[in-house]
Amino acid sequence: MSTGNDIMSTGTAEADTAVETELDDARWAVIERRDSAAISLFIYGVRTTGVFCRPGCPARTPLRSNIEFFGACDEAKAAGYRACKRCRPTEATTADPSVATIADICRRLECHGEAPTVAALAGDVGWSARHLSRTFKSVTGVTPAAYGRSVRADRARRSLVAGSEVTNAAFDAGFGSLRAFYEHGASRLGMTPGVLRDGASATTIGYAIAPCALGVVQVAATARGVCSVRLGHEDEVESMRSALIDEHPQAEVIEDPDGLAELVSLVVELAAGRPSAAVDLPLDVQGTAFQVAVWEALRSLPTGDVASYGDIARSLGRPSAHRAVANACAANKVALIVPCHRVIRADGKPGGYRWGADRKTRLLAAEAG
Ligand SMILES: [Zn+2]
Repeated sequence: MSTGNDIMSTGTAEADTAVETELDDARWAVIERRDSAAISLFIYGVRTTGVFCRPGCPARTPLRSNIEFFGACDEAKAAGYRACKRCRPTEATTADPSVATIADICRRLECHGEAPTVAALAGDVGWSARHLSRTFKSVTGVTPAAYGRSVRADRARRSLVAGSEVTNAAFDAGFGSLRAFYEHGASRLGMTPGVLRDGASATTIGYAIAPCALGVVQVAATARGVCSVRLGHEDEVESMRSALIDEHPQAEVIEDPDGLAELVSLVVELAAGRPSAAVDLPLDVQGTAFQVAVWEALRSLPTGDVASYGDIARSLGRPSAHRAVANACAANKVALIVPCHRVIRADGKPGGYRWGADRKTRLLAAEAG
């Protein structure tokens, strides 16, 4: 019998994180070679000292596991870091002009709201789109689109953490920081059930509701991760709120549209059938070992792919467990992020969906396109 952890160690699960680690890897390479041409591109906070630096800082290079990347200095300050006195990251720099241009573009991609297109960015700086794409990639190591996705996923993760008293639960559990908890927790799914049970009565759940391509989507999260994603019609907002409260009788449920704005925008992308970094966010959901294995298998199905209940059962080494796979799909509390809509009948028909067969059909059509 596979456990969630076994599934986590397969290659397919790693593909989910590729977008984000690509940018982090490129940034780390810059730090390692003390590339001072890149001084304006990004900054990094050092968790052990509480200081933020720019690439090329003359101080000793910290361990990669102790750093956290930021775009603009304000973000690092908001996260509680102070400027390094040696590399003075807040002071103006005289970088290579094309690097300075790319740095400006990075800051624009970090802004809230809809990401500017490459064509729009190129127009603003008077470059061709092709030149901008190439220069951006050669300077930052990733494409402008990948940069934007990575920044939004990071911000969503921080907003899950920000200002929540539940943060204490992770510290109490012996993790040095919430980020470490996410990164080194037993699994992204079905995390440390003991901690969850013990902390359940003190849990605060934030939620937000937004329009999406499928009606409205309600996204809820604890400090540990996303705990619920449900779909409905515009006139069902009240009943969706009640359902969330009913499902978590011991939790304090608070509407938090600002805190969850970034997270919601990532889930709205999924509802439109577009890939989104939301698929890699930590989840705070519980299930049996088999359910967790099914959910992890679903998360490794890329946008545009579908599988049958039998395919999933076979991939888990339980070829006759169609029924159990179907039950695990029905028990999925985080629609879209765990894409149970990508499981269809063996005859190719869409089959049932907790949020309506019509939504499933539309979603699959959008993902296929
Ligand atoms: Zn420094």
